[in-house]
Order: sequence, then C-alpha cells, then structure tokens
Amino acid sequence: MESKLTTISYEAIREMDANDPLKAFREKFYVPEGVLYFDGNSLGALPKGVEARLGEAVRQEWGNGLIRSWIGAGWYDMPRRLGDKIGRLVGAKPGQVVVADSTSVNLFKVLAAALKLQVGKSVILSEPDNFPTDLYMAQGLVELLGSAHELRLKWAEEIIDAIDTQTAVVMLTHVNYRTGWMHDMKAITKRAHEMGALVIWDLAHSAGAMPVELDDVEADFAIGCGYKYLNGGPGAPAFVYVAERHQARFSQPLAGWMGHAQPFSFEWKYEPAEGISRYLAGTQAVLSMTALECGVDVMLEADLQAMREKSLVMSDLFMRLVEEQCKGYDLKLVTPTEREQRGSQVCLSHPEGYAMMQALIARGVIGDFRAPDILRFGFTPLYVGYEDIWKAVGILAEILETRAWDNAAFKARAKVT
Ligand SMILES: *Cc1c(COP(=O)(O)O)cnc(C)c1O
Repeated sequence: MESKLTTISYEAIREMDANDPLKAFREKFYVPEGVLYFDGNSLGALPKGVEARLGEAVRQEWGNGLIRSWIGAGWYDMPRRLGDKIGRLVGAKPGQVVVADSTSVNLFKVLAAALKLQVGKSVILSEPDNFPTDLYMAQGLVELLGSAHELRLKWAEEIIDAIDTQTAVVMLTHVNYRTGWMHDMKAITKRAHEMGALVIWDLAHSAGAMPVELDDVEADFAIGCGYKYLNGGPGAPAFVYVAERHQARFSQPLAGWMGHAQPFSFEWKYEPAEGISRYLAGTQAVLSMTALECGVDVMLEADLQAMREKSLVMSDLFMRLVEEQCKGYDLKLVTPTEREQRGSQVCLSHPEGYAMMQALIARGVIGDFRAPDILRFGFTPLYVGYEDIWKAVGILAEILETRAWDNAAFKARAKVT
C-alpha cells in the first residue's frame, strides 16, 4: 500500500481511522464489498435498519392496519413529526419544517410565497451555476406570473454586492453542487435583510453534512433534499422550512387539501392550515417518509460538529493526496481550499473527466461526473473513512498513469451521470 510519492504513511491513515470518534457509525450503513463510495451527496447509502422498518410498515401498518394506520400508525402527522426532526439538524425550532414533495416543488412554493410578500420588488437574484432545477422553477414561476419579475444571475463572489433595493428574493444553494463553494449564510442573509430582500436557502448539499443554523441567521425560507446526506433513499421526499414570522402572512399557491385547516371537513373553500402545515399540498408518500425517518434517526445520533470536522479533514486529506500523487496530468482543483468556503465535497476538473470517472467506477470508486468537465467526490463522514480516501486516490493515480480511461467504453455518455 505504500506509495513513494506520498508524505503521509498508510499507518498514519489507519491511525486516523482508529481514532475517528464517528467510526461506530459505519456499522449502521450498508456499503457493498469492494465499493469506495464518494457519492453520498447524490444518493446517500442505505441505513441498515431500513429494510426491517419498511417490511414492518408494509406488513403491519399497511397490510393489517389498512386505513386505520393514518391515525394508528401516525401516518397523518408524519410530515410534521419528521419535519421537526430534520429541524434539529438545520437549527430550526419545532413547527417550522415540514416534509413534503420534492425539492423542486418546495422551491416553487416558497419562491411564490416570498414574491407575494415583496410587493413592488421585481428581482430574483441567483447564480448561473445554481443547480438547474432551482433556476428552471424560478423561470417557470416568472412565466406563470406574467409580471415584471426578472431572474438575475450573478457569480458567487458578486452576489452579496448585487443585492439592492430592487431585490425581492435572494435564492441560493448554500453549497454549490458542482464546485463545492459554500456561501456565508449569515452575511448574505443579513445583507439581504438590510436591503429589504428575503432569502431562500437550498440546503441540498448541507443538511446532514454540517451544522446549519437557520433560526440563528434569521433565514426566511429553506428547502432541502431527503435522498442526499439524509440517506432517505432514492426519490425520498424533501423538506421545506418557513420561519415562523412568515407563516401566517401568505398561503402558498399549491393549495392542496392536506394544507387545508380542516382537510376532513371537506369544505369547498380553501382555508390554509395554521403554521407550517399549509406548505403541504396532497397526500404524502408514507412509505418513502418511513425510509427517510430511518436515515434522519441515524443522523440525529451523530454530533454535527464532529461530522463537519471529519468531513473537512477528509477533504483536506483527499486534496493533499491528489496534489502529491496525481501531479502532471492536468487535473485542476475546483473546490476552494479555505475551510469556511467549502462544503463536504471536492471537485476536480479535466477535459476527459467523464471517461476518468467511468474508469474509476469500473474499479469500484464511485463518485460522479458533472458536465462539462467535473469529477466530484462527496465525503459523507458517517460511512466513509480515511483509508477509503487513501485507496481511492491510489486508484485515481493508477488510472492517470496507465491512461486506463482512454477507452471507448468509458467515453459513451449514459443518461444519468
Ligand atoms: C439535488 C438537488 C435538487 C433536487 O431536486 P429534486 O426536486 O429533489 O429532484 C435541488 N436543488 C439542489 C441544489 C440540488 O442539489
């Protein structure tokens, strides 16, 4: 395992794993033999309890309980109960988070609500390399409103100075999905409020990866993803946070019956529920929420500060090993090296990045490729260890040296990357 090019020894890496305060969490996840997984930021690994819990939910709650389980098994209150649990991970007091729908749909709800509150202001401020679905949802809403609203895009470094009195809403993803750049949530929220703007934070790449303090920074709205760092399973429901002070001011436009004050009085007229429940639309995906709850429960046992520290040490180690072992192959580091400017991922760029990632995946190193040229490695502190990183960089160095990626089979683009 020793590499002559590396200034840190394999023994030292093993020592880091042995002293890892989070090491017991690895046992709580299923990661297949022979896989080094660096894609938990795209689809989190399977918590071991999920299979049994879903089996029970299917057989007992659905099979035997049938419709009685809406109350008997707590299905009806699940979006709020699970929302409060996620609230603990993102610094939100109870009653401000609800689990529902997808991140995209939740963005639509809060963006519509925020624009409605901002009479006389027309600009939605975001970044050109925000995750595309966020930008698409904003474009769709602007078109629907048929009004004078405008989606204005500025690069990350320019955002704070671009907030002005015309800004209705600042709509940003806390950690950029492609570069790993992390915004200063507190400073941007403060600046926005000084200018009379509201802020929507997309926490897709931060909830469950690091401590987030929504109440503390006085965030207005936030949304986030269930299937990434929260390990809720493919297509897991998302969540939405609305600060208590904004909840009663407007009811979001997807006014479904589950967001009604009294869904079971079957009134013809819509009347929004009190509080965060009005951000529900239709009936929620109970089985998917059941799986998500397992992921969130594991996360709640972990110390978020310790997770953040481990994630930073892992990404520091990865960058250092790449620097030492993969020199001279034109790989560029895209992620900021400053700790306070990055999330829990490291991105490298290379014109042949797609083929390189396919060659890595063929050797069991699973990261992902993000167009046009990014190799992305996510570091999930609960089930990735330092030795995994050591091995992965060794394999990357070998692929670069042997040009194993330079193979037609690795260059054909798949539908999902
Ligand atoms: C992953 C991700 C989403 C996903 O949206 P879905 O509606 O759940 O598919 C949205 N925004 C960001 C920033 C993401 O990273």
